[in-house]
Amino acid sequence: MIESLDSADDDETALDMFRALVADSPDSPLLDYFDNSLSVDDIDRLSDSLAAGLSDGGFHEGDRLALYLQNVPQYVVTLLAVWKLKGIAVAINPMLTGHEVSKLLADSTPKVLVCLDELFTLGIATAVANSTVTRVITTSPLDWRATIADSSIVANTVDGLDGCEDLSELIKHNDNRKPPHLSPVPDDVAVITYTSGTTGVPKGAMNSHRNVATGGRAYRDWFGLGRDDIILGIAPLFHVTGLSGHIASTLAAGARLILLYRFTVDEVARVVRDKRPTFTVGAITAFIALANSPEVRHADLASLTKVASGGAPVAAATIDNFEDLFGSYIHNVYGMTETTSPVLAVPMNSRAPVGTQTEALSVGVPVITADVAVVGDDGLPVAVGELGEVAVSGPQVITGYWNNPAADAEAFRNGRLLTGDVGYRDDAGWFYLVDRRKDMIIASGYKVWPREVEDTLYKHEAVLEAGVVGQPDDYRGESVMAFVSLRDGFETTPQELIDFCRSRMAAYKYPREVVIVDAIPKTVTGKVLRRELRPGIQPELHRP
Ligand code: AMP
Repeated sequence: MIESLDSADDDETALDMFRALVADSPDSPLLDYFDNSLSVDDIDRLSDSLAAGLSDGGFHEGDRLALYLQNVPQYVVTLLAVWKLKGIAVAINPMLTGHEVSKLLADSTPKVLVCLDELFTLGIATAVANSTVTRVITTSPLDWRATIADSSIVANTVDGLDGCEDLSELIKHNDNRKPPHLSPVPDDVAVITYTSGTTGVPKGAMNSHRNVATGGRAYRDWFGLGRDDIILGIAPLFHVTGLSGHIASTLAAGARLILLYRFTVDEVARVVRDKRPTFTVGAITAFIALANSPEVRHADLASLTKVASGGAPVAAATIDNFEDLFGSYIHNVYGMTETTSPVLAVPMNSRAPVGTQTEALSVGVPVITADVAVVGDDGLPVAVGELGEVAVSGPQVITGYWNNPAADAEAFRNGRLLTGDVGYRDDAGWFYLVDRRKDMIIASGYKVWPREVEDTLYKHEAVLEAGVVGQPDDYRGESVMAFVSLRDGFETTPQELIDFCRSRMAAYKYPREVVIVDAIPKTVTGKVLRRELRPGIQPELHRP
């Protein structure tokens, strides 16, 4: 049995951790962005000034402020300002369109929106105009430099920003002011994070201060992060991976965080060369992109000795390829928006074993104070090796969704969060995922896990990406349908792929229909958006 690390379940919040750094090492560099660096004291000063300005405008305890930003230092400054006022941040994916944003604003009813000016398009402006937001504060990706250097304010350049305030100006106006000294308690909501939507209608997970701090400590303790560590921020900050794995982990470890405005392989290569980061966590697609880039292939990534990937299945070949090229082993970690941080992870200095029931790599063992079980339909734990739903409890798990008792009732059973992931545990304590419960296809009464069919398709040399869904079938109930995109320079036909699968799988599993498409829709974390592949949802993908 592999022992989990132990971590004190203390009541320190991420804001407390930050304040301890202010008291202890105000001059330490905390955030790097392009070629500049912000110290702990810089961030404290900026967030104090912003909090004072927000407080003057009537933003109080429990009020919501929506963040619609890329990975810029203003994200961290605003988050801390909100926490200093005991407010709640609403993390919105900056890739969402006006229509999608308006749903999240209607659900979370924020008073304030902080937004990058270049993202404040007509669609977003309309969504905001029809929402509860009364104060829009915009900022440019490079504005913070002006603030720090105390030089001229960068003017808004986007048309139609009338009525918006400029973040730098607001901070400058409140320079050297301190907001009232407030401290959120661990059970207060720190951030409302919307789930990625692979399951349908977005739900606001209420990540509490306890959840966030536990997440930061989990990364710190699992990967042995300390003051000398430099964290490369490649995951989006609006996602819990960025929140826990970049922001909270940096504060918990007293480390330094490098923010990348946009993930490009060139930028990663430059930052790794110049800043020598030691740890990163991100989606596997990011590591695949690095390994496939001719520029990065020859870059020296040796400083990155602690690497984690989460959010989507990882193939053994991808991990091996990355290790061969760069010498770093990618540690598979598993968690979800509702668990704020990984609850299963491959320990440092270990390698994920391959499962006995499928060819999938293990997603690890329980992480710091996470209680992870595999449960049956009755909600009770099943025996070792038996398939069931992964269920989690612990201080990193949310206690509910924002204003959504129906979603709460569905998600929790016997005090545990039901993850929707089906898997099993082996007798050494390693966990393996088989598929997502909601994606299960039932064909002629047999259960088919789309991922198994996808994995088989991936074995065909012409297949670049595959997504498998069930389609209504009068005879079978559902039948298996596959969408594939092809590698450059390869050709095949749907029938050849059907035959390929038929020769490798049980008769009820192989796809009855294969559609060759240009690209498979995926989430920002690299998950196949099966929902978008289902018949009737994306008609253009269903062309003959
Ligand atoms: P999200 O809420 O967007 O973070 O998505 C969480 C879901 O991503 C989980 O319920 C899993 O289905 C999937 N997931 C997370 N980590 C892994 C992993 N290491 N391997 C396979 N799937 C994962």
